[in-house]
Amino acid sequence: MALRMSSLFVRTQKEDPVGAEVASHRLLHRAGYIRRQAPGIYTWLPLGLAVLGKIEAIVREEMALAGSQEVHFPGLLPADPYKTSGRWEAFGPDLFHLKDRRDNDYILAPTHEEVFTLLVKDLYSSYKDLPLSIYQIQTKYRDEARPRAGLLRGREFIMKDAYSFDVDDAGLDASYEAMRVAYLRAFARLGLPCLPVEATPGAMGGSGTEEFIYPSEVGEDTFVRSAGGYAANVEAVTSIVPDPIPYEGTPAAHVEDTPDTPTIETLVAAANANHPREDREWTAADTLKNVVCAVTHPDGTREVIVIGLPGDREVDLDRAAGTGMLGDGEVDLEAATAEDLAAHPELVKGYIGPGNDLDHPVLGLESPSKIRYLLDPRIVDGTRWITGANEPGRHVFDLVAGRDFVADGTIEAAQVAVGDPAPDGSGPLELARGVEIGQIFKLGRRYAEALDLKVLDANGKATTVTMGSYGLGVTRVMACIAEEYHSEDGLLWPQHLAPADVHVIVAGKGADIAEAAETITAELEAEGISVLIDDRNKVSPGFKFADAELIGIPTVIVVGRGLADGVVEVRDRLADEKTDLPVAEVVPATVAAIREAYAKADAAADAAAVDAAETALPAAAVDAADANV
Ligand code: ATP
Ligand code: MG
Repeated sequence: MALRMSSLFVRTQKEDPVGAEVASHRLLHRAGYIRRQAPGIYTWLPLGLAVLGKIEAIVREEMALAGSQEVHFPGLLPADPYKTSGRWEAFGPDLFHLKDRRDNDYILAPTHEEVFTLLVKDLYSSYKDLPLSIYQIQTKYRDEARPRAGLLRGREFIMKDAYSFDVDDAGLDASYEAMRVAYLRAFARLGLPCLPVEATPGAMGGSGTEEFIYPSEVGEDTFVRSAGGYAANVEAVTSIVPDPIPYEGTPAAHVEDTPDTPTIETLVAAANANHPREDREWTAADTLKNVVCAVTHPDGTREVIVIGLPGDREVDLDRAAGTGMLGDGEVDLEAATAEDLAAHPELVKGYIGPGNDLDHPVLGLESPSKIRYLLDPRIVDGTRWITGANEPGRHVFDLVAGRDFVADGTIEAAQVAVGDPAPDGSGPLELARGVEIGQIFKLGRRYAEALDLKVLDANGKATTVTMGSYGLGVTRVMACIAEEYHSEDGLLWPQHLAPADVHVIVAGKGADIAEAAETITAELEAEGISVLIDDRNKVSPGFKFADAELIGIPTVIVVGRGLADGVVEVRDRLADEKTDLPVAEVVPATVAAIREAYAKADAAADAAAVDAAETALPAAAVDAADANV
């Protein structure tokens, strides 16, 4: 049944939604696909559901092809499994939780590892039952600190989440690879450029993990790539750590007056003028900058820490928070506030240092301050620094790591810079922005252990199952497709994802025009081509064209004045072409073009599957990560 503009539940909007920063948000609202209900929470209208349904259908087909079976969990879940796994705390304030009338804790699930694990435990008991891959397409809830950009970051959103269950690591590797191929196929079929990048597991736990990034300026993720094929989220980039340097013969540390050196540049200039090195000039990279930050742990406790890094680098708070080196679970990291600093008068603003000799540390858990002190990994033993002397107007020179000061650990907290070397030696890095549209994890045995999922192996011995978890943001993907495919005037969907295959416009008053449009519509539908017909009586062709541009179906058939000469106009908006076709040719030509577009999307998926092997994580890296499970 054709959709009819005369009755379709849609009202296009002239005004952008309040606070719209990105095209997808603006256009999905204006074209009548979604309506905002609350921050980060949207209501779906018929056109929105039509596109969403097509995206979900593709995801379902690719999951089936990868051997995954569909199930469906509630969004409202008892909190107990999440308490057992530790994520009741680890999710922190992102978790929506509530109580039932008997005072039991419930959550609105942000992701479903725990209950999938328990479902398999409930039903399976033998290695013969495995491998198993199951998935759902389901609504997730996360009380995001900054919901933004419409569907891109919602507090309620739809995710496809799949989980694999294997008896051994080789099985997990194979399950992971099958899902990885399914993702590359699905994104190719959805017409979304995407790059698999190495990532960090965050609160999920586990070992090897990759994110699928849609490269775009609207994204909140920064990733790096090298000409040699390395690609990673900045959070996952590891610095190349130099070998320790012997420090015999390095001058002893000495404290000097350094008046009027408010910046690193002025400090370096004064150092070269008044306390020159014997071997070369001091540079900003020889200064040890100590940055006071505050970690908020999942349980709400706030911890002041100091991060030491070379003075030519800035701290990247998100990268540092994402490393997992600050504590268990999802931590928040921000610059220390005046209040944090007031609580630590031993920190002399502008002159903070680790202490001038090993016997009198000022920073570190072993020092009187008990402030955790973490260093950039490049600050290896033997490196020689200028840093604060913990007195106003004074710095300490020739302070040697390992000889004069130690830290509580290292942290990858420095901003990754363009030109830094790729960790795998594949050349200098370039930086780009993107949106995370999916992430796949080799979870390993963490959840199976926490929730006691075991099966009997071939020898009758109970063995803990190893798991993978695979998320794909369905509604976020829809926003990204709208980002990738739109014009100045509206959405412009890939043909096979449009809410209807063809938009027929009755562009004139005569009964013959309406009749011809209806005939074309009926004939297309008889061929299995779906149609949205603009059959509104009292709406001018100009308005109909504007709505068609906003709604974004790429094939538009205009039945209007040309009919007198036996022709109708067929617009291919993606190719930006208009053709007048004799009435008799319109239907066969359109049917052929649309079938070809669907076939092309399928072929893109096949091509992506062939390419998948080339971008697979190097086996060694994955194996090494596995060893940590
Ligand atoms: P982000 O870093 O963007 O917050 P995440 O890493 O927390 O995402 P995952 O837990 O990996 O997200 O969830 C799997 C997928 O679900 C993501 O790759 C993304 O596509 C989607 N997703 C996650 N959070 C949201 C959200 N708030 N709104 C829409 N989609 C989301
Ligand atoms: Mg993720």
